[in-house]
Order: sequence, then C-alpha cells, then structure tokens
Amino acid sequence: ATMPPLLSAIANAGRHGVLVKSAVAMERLGQIDTVAYDKTGTLTEGTPRVVAVTPETGFDERELLTLAAAVEHRSEHPIARSVAEAARERDLKLPEAYDFTSTPGRGVAATVDGRKVEVGAPARLLPDATEQGTAPEADGTTTVLVLVDGAPAGRLALADRPRPDAAAAVADLARLTGTPPVLLTGDGPGAAANVAAAVGIEDVRAGLLPHEKAAAVSELAQSGRAVLVIGDGVNDAPALAAAHTGVAMGRAGSDLALETADAVVVRDELAAVPRAVWISRRARRLVA
Ligand code: ADP
Ligand code: MG
Repeated sequence: ATMPPLLSAIANAGRHGVLVKSAVAMERLGQIDTVAYDKTGTLTEGTPRVVAVTPETGFDERELLTLAAAVEHRSEHPIARSVAEAARERDLKLPEAYDFTSTPGRGVAATVDGRKVEVGAPARLLPDATEQGTAPEADGTTTVLVLVDGAPAGRLALADRPRPDAAAAVADLARLTGTPPVLLTGDGPGAAANVAAAVGIEDVRAGLLPHEKAAAVSELAQSGRAVLVIGDGVNDAPALAAAHTGVAMGRAGSDLALETADAVVVRDELAAVPRAVWISRRARRLVA
C-alpha cells in the first residue's frame, strides 16, 4: 500500500531534521502564516561567552564570578552554562549552594556561604532602578546582574552569536508566510535589537516573562493569525502551547519545551523548519 500523504510527509520531514509528533501536527505546520521566534538558543547558537566581569566596590572579579557560578552551575540555562564555564576556565573553586531556585525569564538564586546570591535579568532583579535596570546594552551583549543579600555585587556581560543559518531561515519562512516575523525574548532590548538586525527581524518585543510571550502569541491568534512559535527554553513553553504550531530546538532544548512542542528540530539547524513547512504544504495539496 502507498503511505498516506501526511505520514510520508512526517517521514520526509524527519529526513530533513524535524521530528513531527503527529499527523495533525504535520498538517497544522503547513497552515501557519506568521512566525514568532525566541532569541537565545533559537536564533542564536545558545552558547554565550562571558566577555566582561564588572564588580561593584567591595567585590573583586574572582569573588563575583565564584558566587555567580556557585549558583549557576545548578541551572541548565545557556547563560548559566557559560557562567559555569567562565569559572572553570579560571580554575575557581566553587562553594556549595543551598536552597537553589530558578525562575524562568528572571534568573536563579541560592544561599552561598550564608549569603543570598541572586543572578539574573537586571530589569527583573532591580525593577525600580531606572538607570541600572533598563539601559539597553549598546554593544548588544546580555547583561546579568548579581545581587548578594539584595545589594548589587556586580555584572557579567555575555555575547552570543546568531546561528549561521538564522538569517536565511528567517527569510525563507517570511517568504513562505508572506508576513513579517516577530522576535519574543526575555532578554533586554540591546541584545534583542542586535540579534534582530543580524537576522532581519523588525518587530522586536524584549524583556518578556514566559506568560507575556504566550500573551503576545494569543494576541496575534486573536487577530486571525496562525502562529508558528520556535523556541527552546522552559520560558518558551507557554508560548509554544499557545501557538497554532510549536517547534522546539532539540539539541539544547529544555525537556519542557520538547514535550510541549508539536515538532522538534533534531538536526540543530534552523533551516530545517522552512523545509518542514514546505513539506507539509505539499502533503496538504495531495490530501485535499
Ligand atoms: P530568551 O527569551 O532570550 O531565551 P530567557 O527568557 O531564557 O531569554 O531569559 C531572559 C533573561 O532572564 C535573560 O536574559 C537573563 O537576564 C535572565 N535569566 C534567565 N535565566 C537565567 C540564569 N540561569 N542566569 C542568569 N540570568 C538568567
Ligand atoms: Mg531560548
């Protein structure tokens, strides 16, 4: 017997690097008319590097990085991995961290040497400090703030590169949908603008919490759009769930994102997504 078109399409998408979870998902993928992208780990490689360590008075670089890494080595976030890596490169000995907590879109916290250490988005940790919290990073880096017992101990600057195939994939999907793409990120406006310019996205929404990403998707849906969300993090799960179709980046994607999504990019190429959309459209023409 010949395979039904949607099953052939699933097999074909799999060969092109996208694991589509069901025939329904395969069909819906071809219906999308708008694409909303996460930034870190989706448009970027997701392996940022710590490029500057800036302590406040009373702390030195090594102490600042030690405290931050002691907390971050418990987290799976791309920022956390890079902070832990920076500490490893400097041979820092990390003290034990207790009572670890992680808040998607905000950051992490733990008790280290009897002090409460928080690491995360400046605008979330110090929402009232207008000057400190909202100044966009002019150089396009991501700034992470470290608080010790509630007071700023310093900042880390991280740089993450766009994926080599991101601009081409964004352009292909824009052509397939005929609609301008949207960037939804929890990161600050400076880092967001930098990546958006590099990949060709004009509609940029920065500083979003996970439920705000989902709300942005629901708003687009209410205006009649069938939204494809592409993301990788725990913070993207609500948006992936709110999407017409959710696609998760598989290699470094969080378990929650992989479970919530309708399809998973297993080859770690963003360019696999437009191929899968095209395969779905062709299959739907055969079904109809
Ligand atoms: P994106 O939407 O770009 O993938 P996230 O929502 O994962 O970004 O993170 C948004 C912001 O929250 C980050 O830019 C960072 O400031 C902060 N953040 C989240 N998790 C962590 C962490 N483990 N360590 C430090 N900062 C974090
Ligand atoms: Mg992400």
